[in-house]
Amino acid sequence: MPAVYPIVPGHEIVGRVAKVGSAVTNYKPGDLAAVGCMVDSDGTCPHCKDGLEQFCPNLTLTFNSPDKHLGGVTYGGYSDSVVVDERFVLRVPSNLDLAGAAPLLCAGITTYSPKRRSGVTKGKKVGVVGLGGLGHMGVKFAHVLGAHVVVFTTSPGKKEDALRLGADEVVVSRNTDEMQKHAGSFDFILDAASADHDINAYINLLRRDGNITLVGAPEKPLGVSAFGLIMGRRSLSGSNIGGIGETQEMLDFCGAHNITADVEVVPIQKVNEAYERLLKSDVKYRFSIDMSSLKSDDRRDA
Ligand SMILES: [Zn+2]
Repeated sequence: MPAVYPIVPGHEIVGRVAKVGSAVTNYKPGDLAAVGCMVDSDGTCPHCKDGLEQFCPNLTLTFNSPDKHLGGVTYGGYSDSVVVDERFVLRVPSNLDLAGAAPLLCAGITTYSPKRRSGVTKGKKVGVVGLGGLGHMGVKFAHVLGAHVVVFTTSPGKKEDALRLGADEVVVSRNTDEMQKHAGSFDFILDAASADHDINAYINLLRRDGNITLVGAPEKPLGVSAFGLIMGRRSLSGSNIGGIGETQEMLDFCGAHNITADVEVVPIQKVNEAYERLLKSDVKYRFSIDMSSLKSDDRRDA
């Protein structure tokens, strides 16, 4: 989707309700609330009826999407307020750290949804490829769901951190012998790597009927060996956030298990620096912007 400038990004938003319209029944001023990647949908298509609003052909994304009410495009969370239909507003459990809860709205639901759909529970063996913003959430969820969690990384330096986040084992993916030890043993693998990588190496680690789900988005097409899938009836799929109902379920699950993202909080003035560091994977594991810093921004008067 082409960016329409000026653009206001931000689709992992938490804060307190400032005002409500006269027809709003579920929220009142002062409530903790969150907004994720979408702010509206038609509510009538088969996807909406199934509670999978993220696939609605008339979906309105939180930013850079045609704005049905005001014209132009929608503006996201890098601002001091956002106006959203209450159907797309979520409740944040009060025990969660707000800065750490914000990334749940995209990174959280993106990694929670495919695990739930694949029946990740106690006794299952689950792999997570890549330990970044998405991957670190994937590890936390798989661990709390009771699975035996194996993290695949290209950086041996991430081993300790992976174990701290809940991994039972860490495999350096460049080590073919180490990879081979796990051949045919995984029920489910969450592939959160956005860099170019050999997907077949992971498909071969799946057991019969195992599934690997892509949530990372490598720039180049992946070369998939048909035999890797045919032998063992394995499957390769993709997944995209979750519906509003499932997003609320995920937030409640996080509340019950006290799960948040590991974040580094930055003021809006440091957003460009944060972006540069992000490109170098120099963040553990998500930046969270304290939007109150916007009020102290001198440039607003310039
Ligand atoms: Zn729809």
